Amino acid sequence: MPPVSDDSSRSPLAILQEVFGYTAFRGQQQAIVDHVTAGHDALVLMPTGGGKSLCYQVPAIARHRAGKGVTIVVSPLIALMHDQVGALEEVGVHAAFLNSTLSLEDTQRIEREMMAGRMVMLYAAPERVTNLRFQAQLASLHERGLLSLFAIDEAHCVSQWGHDFREDYLQLSMLHERFPDVPRLALTATADDHTRADMIERLQLQDARVFISSFDRPNIRYTLVEKDNPRQQLLRFIRDEHDGDAGIVYCQSRRKVEETADWLNQQGLTALPYHAGLDAKVRQRHQDRFLREDGIVMVATVAFGMGIDKPDVRFVAHLDLPKNIEGYYQETGRAGRDGGDADAWLTYGLADVVNQRRMIDESPAADDFKRIQRGKLDALLALAEAHDCRRVRLLSYFGEESQPCGNCDNCLRPPATWDGTDAARKLLSCIYRFWQHGQQRFGAGHLIDVLRGKETDKVQQYGHQSLSTFGVGADLSENQWRAVLRQLIALGHVVAEGEYNTLALTESARAVLKGEVQLTLREAAEAPRRSKAGKGAGKPAAPADLTGDALARFADLRAWRAEVAREHNLPAYIVFNDATLADMARVAPQTLGELGQISGVGVKKLQAYGEQILRVLKP
Ligand code: ADP
Ligand code: ZN
Repeated sequence: MPPVSDDSSRSPLAILQEVFGYTAFRGQQQAIVDHVTAGHDALVLMPTGGGKSLCYQVPAIARHRAGKGVTIVVSPLIALMHDQVGALEEVGVHAAFLNSTLSLEDTQRIEREMMAGRMVMLYAAPERVTNLRFQAQLASLHERGLLSLFAIDEAHCVSQWGHDFREDYLQLSMLHERFPDVPRLALTATADDHTRADMIERLQLQDARVFISSFDRPNIRYTLVEKDNPRQQLLRFIRDEHDGDAGIVYCQSRRKVEETADWLNQQGLTALPYHAGLDAKVRQRHQDRFLREDGIVMVATVAFGMGIDKPDVRFVAHLDLPKNIEGYYQETGRAGRDGGDADAWLTYGLADVVNQRRMIDESPAADDFKRIQRGKLDALLALAEAHDCRRVRLLSYFGEESQPCGNCDNCLRPPATWDGTDAARKLLSCIYRFWQHGQQRFGAGHLIDVLRGKETDKVQQYGHQSLSTFGVGADLSENQWRAVLRQLIALGHVVAEGEYNTLALTESARAVLKGEVQLTLREAAEAPRRSKAGKGAGKPAAPADLTGDALARFADLRAWRAEVAREHNLPAYIVFNDATLADMARVAPQTLGELGQISGVGVKKLQAYGEQILRVLKP
């Protein structure tokens, strides 16, 4: 039997302070932890970086101390289990993982520890949890009262609506069928209604309490810019605002990932590619480097990032439009988990809008699925073209009301808008005239040439110089016309169809043509800059308020941390995260007692590292 400790050391708050060294729970953590520790089921919806891990780790520890045995953590992310378990062992919690990378001896040793109930948490992938052998082990644990809790991480993988669907997750309903009295906690950062309903139904969580946290991530600044030489825009963004920072750049295709990474390397950055077409070993190596080294830019498809809990990712950039707001929010949410300033930056253009629509149209999916996908894309386009607060729109998409945030591009630099009604009518009527003239459709380039009155070969060929709309738009530049067209497509008045993206009017264009609707369009705005005073090229980022001696102490502490991390084969942030190091540098504690007061320093780490840190900090 595992040792049973007294009541006071089992209180969740005591565990938070003693084990993790944090002073207080955040947001709904306390309510969730109390509910689960008491043995009830829960479904937790919390944004990335909100602090989901503690929601099952603290109950797992509390219940283990109360003699209830082992918590099984189901996670799809085999590649991350080593670090997750390493982080727990660092704070003195006995944990392990079972997956295909282990030797037979290690597997047997871990199984013995588990079966004896000594282990607090065991991480395993869904296919392992549902296999026959493991089910028999669980049954034996359960008979002896040592099966404490099931935590199902990334629970949205059970839903076919998301892009993370995993067949194995469907089998997890057996946990409830076989062990109905063992509490279950499902967690996810995906919050839309479809996915939520799927999780409840497929995991049989009808009686679980649902905890929905605010999805706001106030430290992330959202910026969406128009495409105008996107690589240069990206480079300028990284150099001006994130020199030496770790970040993720998302691209849609594998080829673009490779090319972008190559190019960034040529520009002197350290960039690594990551996509499903790379060898598994290469992927793992790149992921490890991203987690363990400072200042790496990961250029990736959406295949990268789920479950990556690196807290100091300072920016997430998108070179292509994501599929929908859920995806965008999940991907951008990987920035700034530590609560420090972070950027979500996206560049998009007319071609993105057209391509995304076409991908939906041409997919083999059923019609109602396509309809939902189109609706989701429209919501994303509306976000991209918005003149008002991005955050208000994002949060309202997730059903939350909020006030203008003061930390997005539109709040910081309200975009100039103009009355585009007239321009829109010219453009729409030009598309209409093409059709009237020769029953033909044309693409954006030719349309803009005609509006601007350019006598190209194509214009001659089709006799379009005779149209009444020829040259009516000479007052706007080609770029301005592209912006007008993009917004008309985003608003759904124009569609681009077929192999050549030829343009056609929709039903709603009629009201605009008649002048019944007024259109306020946005003018292109430059992205606001975050000043990074005092940052030398290539130097790793330090919190802005650290200066002089404190900054020197921070650098010393980082050097010390890097050594420990290498010795333990763990990412540096698992030893201590930047926020904790910065606090140490600020306060400069001189005794173990003072050091123990710093947030992020628990009992075990104080014991293990206290003396060393005091030595580093000695004046
Ligand atoms: P999620 O899994 O929801 O994306 P994590 O569990 O990785 O988020 O937590 C994000 C970061 O916030 C981690 O570095 C974690 O240590 C920290 N954190 C979570 N809860 C607290 C808390 N109550 N006090 C201080 N830091 C916390
Ligand atoms: Zn805002």
